[in-house]
Amino acid sequence: MAITYLEGTCPKCGEKTKEPSNTWAYGSPIRFCPRCKQEYLDARWREVAITGFDPRGSKPGYYFKVFLGTLIVTALSGGWLYYTTHYKGYYSTLTISVFVVSAIATVGSLLLSLWIALGFAAKSNAKYLAESERRLQNPAYVKRLQEYGYVIPAKYLAQAMTDQTTGE
Ligand SMILES: [Zn+2]
Repeated sequence: MAITYLEGTCPKCGEKTKEPSNTWAYGSPIRFCPRCKQEYLDARWREVAITGFDPRGSKPGYYFKVFLGTLIVTALSGGWLYYTTHYKGYYSTLTISVFVVSAIATVGSLLLSLWIALGFAAKSNAKYLAESERRLQNPAYVKRLQEYGYVIPAKYLAQAMTDQTTGE
């Protein structure tokens, strides 16, 4: 759903990288550096046909708890902000920061838990799984993942082997 960014450093040339990703970083863990163009492994990305989906992505309850927690913090900091501003004639920037950050987290976690509960997550998971399976149809890609230490499920291995022996 939400567009987030994964920040990192290219292990080959040290370039700082910042890539747009989906909420749970579903995609290929084999990345290419925008500067030196070299390939490297970023295990934060989940090749879902192999490693499965992030369990948080299928449990609305997890984000609902985050929502309740952040809601309390928002209410307390908001209340304190109101009290100091109206009755004491001052406010602190720290209180404002806490209020703003927790308010954003409250809205975000509520939307995320609704999104999962309403079944949108399952729908987009199917799309990510299809993309992942398409990548695994490439024997060279499967071989690369194995070299990086991934254990490939038998069904994708058999497929890759057949493709290799029947030739290009
Ligand atoms: Zn690089």
